[in-house]
Amino acid sequence: MQEILMLIFNKKSDLSAFLSPFINQNKSIGFVPTMGALHEGHLSLLKNSLSENDITVMSIFVNPTQFNNAEDLDKYPRTLERDVQIMLALSNSIIVYAPEVEDIYEGNTVSENFEYDGLENQMEGKHRPGHFDGVGTIVKRLFEIVQPNKAYFGEKDFQQLQIVKKLVSKYNIPVEVIGCPIHREPNGLAMSSRNERLSAIAKEKAAIIYQILSDAKKLFQTNSAEETILFVENEFKKHPEFQLEYFEIADEATLLPVSQKVSDKKYRGFIAIFIENIRLIDNISLN
Ligand code: AMP
Repeated sequence: MQEILMLIFNKKSDLSAFLSPFINQNKSIGFVPTMGALHEGHLSLLKNSLSENDITVMSIFVNPTQFNNAEDLDKYPRTLERDVQIMLALSNSIIVYAPEVEDIYEGNTVSENFEYDGLENQMEGKHRPGHFDGVGTIVKRLFEIVQPNKAYFGEKDFQQLQIVKKLVSKYNIPVEVIGCPIHREPNGLAMSSRNERLSAIAKEKAAIIYQILSDAKKLFQTNSAEETILFVENEFKKHPEFQLEYFEIADEATLLPVSQKVSDKKYRGFIAIFIENIRLIDNISLN
């Protein structure tokens, strides 16, 4: 029987010692940070990294400081063994970093404060206080440990992607941040680790999120942002099993809500919505 090995590091010191000769030889390192419970969306990021770099590192770490809700942190799926099997089916050359909280935070599990030119004050930042301080803290630390040339982030978390781009430019971190398209279930539901907590019925019903986003995109071609937002709000009122937290239309670059459409700007619709008490986010390019 052929033995298949995969390198899994739990300690940053061991990972750094392993990576340092490759860094010295100028090998390119691609990095995919995740919180695990892997799905096809994560794998699409991995595939990009594997094809563009000599070495690919994936981190699996449920970062406590980016959770503003203790129950959400507690219930976040942790499936390391299954994740490793999923990665092995793709490649056995992926280097995994799966630390404990202590290895990252060394007894001081708090966020640093970040300022991202206002990107942090919109949408997820407004509704999840402290979230982007937690994201900045973990991403900066992971970049220091892994020292990647390229790092891959999903457009599923579009605001996070823009914030990480801002982080590297503000702190002069020499990493190229690459955004990757949203991977969806066949019914249109954006893949997410949190979907694992949905019942089969809710997963089916949640297909409507992408349908309504797609209808909003069509409407936005001829109608104002205000009318499009009203349309989305009214559609979800017809489906009381959903509790809409927000639907916003924002400029992709600044994430500021659109007041007047301008032809050379790119807009996106952003949604956060609850079903079965589980918070899902999604977004769609509008032009
Ligand atoms: P997470 O494990 O949810 O923190 O996600 C890790 C990375 O995978 C982030 O950059 C996410 O944006 C990305 N990601 C999560 N879901 C998807 C998806 N459905 N399509 C593409 N990327 C995704």
